[in-house]
Amino acid sequence: MYLILLGAPGVGKGTQSKYLVESKGFIQLSTGDILRAEVKAKTDLGIVAKECMDKGTLVSDDIVLNMIKNKLIEISDNVIFDGFPRTLIQAEKFVDILKDLNKKIDKVINIALDDSIIEDRLAGRLVCKSCGKSYHKIFFKPRKAGVCDDCGGVLYQRSDDNLESVRNRLEVYHSTTKPLINYYDKNGILYNLDGNKESLELFNDIVNVLEEDI
Ligand code: AMP
Repeated sequence: MYLILLGAPGVGKGTQSKYLVESKGFIQLSTGDILRAEVKAKTDLGIVAKECMDKGTLVSDDIVLNMIKNKLIEISDNVIFDGFPRTLIQAEKFVDILKDLNKKIDKVINIALDDSIIEDRLAGRLVCKSCGKSYHKIFFKPRKAGVCDDCGGVLYQRSDDNLESVRNRLEVYHSTTKPLINYYDKNGILYNLDGNKESLELFNDIVNVLEEDI
C-alpha cells in the first residue's frame, strides 16, 4: 500500500508514521528527514536545501522529485509518504513517477489542526537525534531532561522550530500545500482526520482507515 500523510507541519505526521512503521510494517519516506540528513552531511544538495529549510520555505520541486524517484528504486511495498507531496506540481509529477513503476497512491490521510495549536506545539517541540521521536518542553516531557525515553538518544530543537520559521511554514502550507486536499478529494482517495485527538486515538482512526487494505 502507498499512503500519503497530508497536513501542516506539526499535526503529527512524523509521530503517526513511526507508529505505522512499528506496528504495521510500513516504510516511512519523509522528505524532511532525507533533506536534514543531506544538510548534516554537508552535501551540495544539503547546502542548497539548508537555506530554504531554515527560512521555512520549500526546497525546489525538481530536487525533491529526484530524491523520491531514487528512494523508490530501493523500496517497494507499504510506503508512507510523510511531507511529500507539498505542491501541485509534485503531486502531478508523482503520478507519472508511480505510473512508470506500475504503482499508485492508495489512500491519502489529511490531518487537520488549528494554526494556533500548531504554533504552540512546534515552538516547544524536541526531537530525538537517534530515533526521531517527538517530545514537548511542557506538554510531553521526557522522563529525564534531554534524553529520549525510548532509545536514550539526545533530544534537540530543530533549527526551523522557531516562531518566525514556523509562521513562514504555515503560510507556505496554506498557500501551496493545502490545495492538495481538494486535489486528492477529487481523486476519491482522501480521508480527513482530527489532529486534535491524543496521538494514540488518532492512530486508531488511521488504522480504521487502512483496515480494509491491511
Ligand atoms: P518537514 O520535516 O516535513 O517539516 O520539512 C522540513 C523542511 O524541509 C520544509 O520546511 C521544507 O523546507 C523542506 N521540505 C520537506 N519536504 C519538502 C517537499 N516535499 N517539498 C519541498 N520542500 C520540502
